[in-house]
Amino acid sequence: MKAAALIAPETIEIIDIPEPHCGPDEVLVRVTAVGLCGTDSAVVRGSRPVPNMPWVLGHEGVGEIVAVGSRTVDREVGQQVAIEPNYCCFTCEACGDGFTSGCPSRDAVGLTSPGLLAEYVAVPAIFTHPAADHVNICDLVCVEPLTVARAAVRRSGVRSGQRCLVVGTGSQGLFVCQSLLAEGITPHVREPHTGRRELALVLGAVPATDGEPFDHIFETSGATGALETALGTLVPGGKATLVGMNAGPLDISTHAVVSRQLSLSGSLIYDHPHDFADTIAALEKKSVEPHRVLQARYPLEAAAEAFAAVVDTPGKCWISLNDPAGQ
Ligand SMILES: [Zn+2]
Ligand SMILES: [Zn+2]
Repeated sequence: MKAAALIAPETIEIIDIPEPHCGPDEVLVRVTAVGLCGTDSAVVRGSRPVPNMPWVLGHEGVGEIVAVGSRTVDREVGQQVAIEPNYCCFTCEACGDGFTSGCPSRDAVGLTSPGLLAEYVAVPAIFTHPAADHVNICDLVCVEPLTVARAAVRRSGVRSGQRCLVVGTGSQGLFVCQSLLAEGITPHVREPHTGRRELALVLGAVPATDGEPFDHIFETSGATGALETALGTLVPGGKATLVGMNAGPLDISTHAVVSRQLSLSGSLIYDHPHDFADTIAALEKKSVEPHRVLQARYPLEAAAEAFAAVVDTPGKCWISLNDPAGQ
């Protein structure tokens, strides 16, 4: 079967690999779509090193179950599923507390275990989330990054009526905007890329104006300068939820944090299983329409082109597999 793999930093090729075997606790998924994000770009660039090469890329995958392992009783052939690509251990203290995003032994698909950009993947059944047939593939393929955004909003404790700034409207920022809008909050946005900013406005955000104060900021760009500027707009007692990452130090004094009583919290992925399940339920009810963030679709054969496009495309790039009619 075909898979899109990194064969050297910055070099992606379509390779032939054996079809995976479905273990007793797994399901075999015929992959239909995979979304691409900044994490994938970091893997391609080599700034997030992978265990070996060729390395199958991609972690935002959805598809159809085509085989069910012998010990798996609660999944069926024919179900469309979204894959939750972070396999927590279920045995550590964090997992025991339901804080699976804090699991130190978490296996991250596409980073520590091979990715999903292949015609078929074998996945632990427990990390597949069935969605009703009426959920469109263009909504379903957004489940993973949308769940990251919804978990950030959930953890932030933001309430309707609070003034919110979303820093960065790459696809993660756009999903945060949609998650806030779904809670009845109109996000204000700051984004230097014209196309990305305009897409946020189309989705219902409004531009932030200079000097405007905010109760809450969501930082999705990972740019430390942008975060430092945004922190200056927080009211006393304001809160920042950080989603974007950067290894560089942050230039803010403890004086600024204490005297203005600011809170800074990181939000990493989501917790199993309720965050994913909650997003799927929202898609089934159509209370959020993440397909509006999808902008550029590619066939598997054009994977290299698709990854190159992630850097500058407003909205989300994605790869459609096993869909000759759509290509
Ligand atoms: Zn991603
Ligand atoms: Zn654990």
